[in-house]
Amino acid sequence: MLKSHSCGELNKDYVGRRVTLAGWVNRRRDHGGLIFIDLRDKEGIVQVVFNPEKSGECHRKAEGLRSEYVVRVGGEVAPRPQGTENPKMATGYVEVIADEILVLNPSKTPPFYINEEVAVDEGLRLKYRYLDLRRPRMRDNLILRHRIVKYIRDFLDEKGFIEVETPILIKSTPEGARDYLVPSRLYPGRFYALPQSPQQLKQLLMVAGMEKYYQIARCFRDEDSRADRQPEFTQFDLEMSFVTEEDILNLLEDLFIGLAEAVKPEMRFNKPIPRLTFAEAMERYGTDKPDLRFGLEIADLSDIVAESGFAVFNSAVARGDRVKGICAPGCGGYNKKQLEELNQLARSLGAAGVVPVTLGTRSGNLNDLTMKMVRSVAAKYLELEQVVEMARRLGASGGDLLLLMAGEREKITPVLGELRREMGRRLRLASPDELAFCFIVDFPLFEWDEEAGQWQTMHHPFTAPRDEDIPLLDSAPGKVRGRHYDMVLNGCEIAGGSIRIHQSRLQRKAFRLLGYSDEEVTERFGHLLEAFEYGAPPHGGVAAGIDRVVMILAGEETIREVIAFPKNQNAVDMLFDAPAPVSQEQLNELHLCLEDLDRGDNEGN
Ligand code: ASP
Repeated sequence: MLKSHSCGELNKDYVGRRVTLAGWVNRRRDHGGLIFIDLRDKEGIVQVVFNPEKSGECHRKAEGLRSEYVVRVGGEVAPRPQGTENPKMATGYVEVIADEILVLNPSKTPPFYINEEVAVDEGLRLKYRYLDLRRPRMRDNLILRHRIVKYIRDFLDEKGFIEVETPILIKSTPEGARDYLVPSRLYPGRFYALPQSPQQLKQLLMVAGMEKYYQIARCFRDEDSRADRQPEFTQFDLEMSFVTEEDILNLLEDLFIGLAEAVKPEMRFNKPIPRLTFAEAMERYGTDKPDLRFGLEIADLSDIVAESGFAVFNSAVARGDRVKGICAPGCGGYNKKQLEELNQLARSLGAAGVVPVTLGTRSGNLNDLTMKMVRSVAAKYLELEQVVEMARRLGASGGDLLLLMAGEREKITPVLGELRREMGRRLRLASPDELAFCFIVDFPLFEWDEEAGQWQTMHHPFTAPRDEDIPLLDSAPGKVRGRHYDMVLNGCEIAGGSIRIHQSRLQRKAFRLLGYSDEEVTERFGHLLEAFEYGAPPHGGVAAGIDRVVMILAGEETIREVIAFPKNQNAVDMLFDAPAPVSQEQLNELHLCLEDLDRGDNEGN
């Protein structure tokens, strides 16, 4: 190797040793006589000193060094002079007294500071990703990602799983997104689709008798980008034969708790992992991805206000709708503008509006509350007991704000869920040091899609219905419960899976309910249905989003921070500038003919 040690490993134990280091100039400081450089490599940073009295030539060369030059340095490790130690640096008690320096490659001035944590335009960071990744935070994210994947591999290996690779060029596998298509050169007019997930392949591996499969798998979904979405992303995907929901949930619990203990021992997490039914999660948190790091649960207040004089409330209850609310602790002093902001948020989410009730700030004790201390448009129609009872149910005390809403349960609860999230964010209720896992179970198998006028699957078409609900497939599909489970971490869905259908007839029936014609089913899924006829074992599995898990464990806001070369929010690779046009020759080979894309613009010419 061109180096004997790495920068980051040097400490007092090395004093007096000769070392050869290689890395990047993180920073150069010229202190009159002495020149200092902070030399950086993957393991860390160490201070190197060039002293003209010790090595004149070396010192002269060091004058020409600039940030990001790649150099090789030879010298002796020495303790830093007293008073110049830096306890904040791992190598802060030593420095290397250089007597050799070789510039391996100079560097242009980088387009942004690599040696400082300053905000840099993301487009620039992505265009120069190889420089961005030199920054310690990004390096640490990639190392964390490696550790997490290694932990998963080791854990599953120990449990008898084997990793099997599945193809990337395949046929459409529905997961609810658009496919990425790859035209075939050999078969004009035919296309491969990139897998939205290895779903059908892992099921076929179960038919193949593999029993315990996993894969760190790349998935491709052509959908509008969001903060935690990318056109391609990585799942850890697994499937097992002869299992029930319980087996998979227990496996996930052991895996994730073990993972948190291994890579983030300083964080707090809940064990055992709580389970909520879909209905419960929706009712209490207005979402199937609740952030359980804080309370502010939604409560139904309909019974309390049913007889109130406030028309908005009692007419809602009379119609069979609900009045529900949450408490915003300590927000009793919110002014008109702040309250209007929350009202606008609720309206933008489709609710008619919020009825705020502020509880006087003078006393924290509900027993001391009088109607004079209650501010609300509804105040003059409410009795003190009603306000106190609502406050009690919402866990509120004096000085708090109640946010109430009246309307159809399915409409207002998700909006209250969003308000809960918003208040959690504003009040910083979610601790960054906490990992709140939960499982969501008992999903309905289907949901009605108003627009399409037909049933849609809540998960994917391969999820099995509960055995006892199978008769309902004919009479009341909306009532059928699916054997589907999700795993949520800090308000983010990190995994989803199910026990699968393993019988052809039932699978056909599910497809039919989802609006597929028999011909379509045979054409798209014939291989799977046929496989099920050769002794398919009962099976189930799950997939977890690696990018999201790493993002949360790294404390990052977007998955782009934990992917080496991500696309930007508009699905563009800024480094390679992809997608990009291709030559006419390539199009010809693929038998593709492009529409005149500029036609619209050229019309006037
Ligand atoms: N294929 C599913 C997904 O990608 C996961 C599973 O059901 O195992 O979400």
